Amino acid sequence: MKIKVYSNNLEDTKEIAHIISKYVFKGMVITLNGDLGAGKTTFTKAFGKEIGIKEEINSPTFNILKCYMNNNIPLYHIDAYRLEDVNPDNLNIGLEEVIEGDGVCLIEWSIYIPNFIPSNSLNIEIKDLGDLKREFNIESNNPKFNDLMKELEGK
Ligand code: ADP
Ligand code: MG
Repeated sequence: MKIKVYSNNLEDTKEIAHIISKYVFKGMVITLNGDLGAGKTTFTKAFGKEIGIKEEINSPTFNILKCYMNNNIPLYHIDAYRLEDVNPDNLNIGLEEVIEGDGVCLIEWSIYIPNFIPSNSLNIEIKDLGDLKREFNIESNNPKFNDLMKELEGK
C-alpha cells in the first residue's frame, strides 16, 4: 500500500508521528529518505517523544547509530548519510543486530544501505514543498501497516 499525506507545519508532522507511533512494535523498521532539511530527524524526534523516550534525540549524522534504551521499547536511530560510498561488505558495525532487533529502528538515508533494509519496512519519503509544507510519501508491502496508512489518510 502507498499513500501521500501532507504536513503544513511542525504540528502536522508531530501528528503523523503520533499516529504511526500508536502502531509501534519490537522489530519495526521505518526508513526515512528525502533531501537534507526535509524533516527526517524532526520526524524521528517527534516519534521518540511519542513512544516515551525521555532523552533529546539529536541528529546522529556524526555517529551513524544512536541507541535510546531507557524505555520499554528501545529506539535505534541510524543516519546512513555518510555511508554513501562505503561498500556494505566492509560495514561490520553491527547494524543487522539493531535492525529488526528488540526495538524500533528509524533509518535516515536508508537508500545508501539497501542491503540492510528488510523488505517489510515502513518507508517514508519526505519532500520539502517550501516554507513549512512537506509531502510524506508512505509505502510498504507489509499488510501489517495497512491500518496505520488508512488512519493517516483519514487524518
Ligand atoms: P533532515 O533530517 O531531513 O535533514 P531535519 O529534520 O534536520 O531534516 O530538518 C528539517 C527542518 O525543517 C527543521 O528545521 C524543521 O524545523 C523544519 N520544518 C519546517 N516545517 C516542517 C514540517 N512541516 N515538518 C518537519 N520539519 C519542518
Ligand atoms: Mg537528519
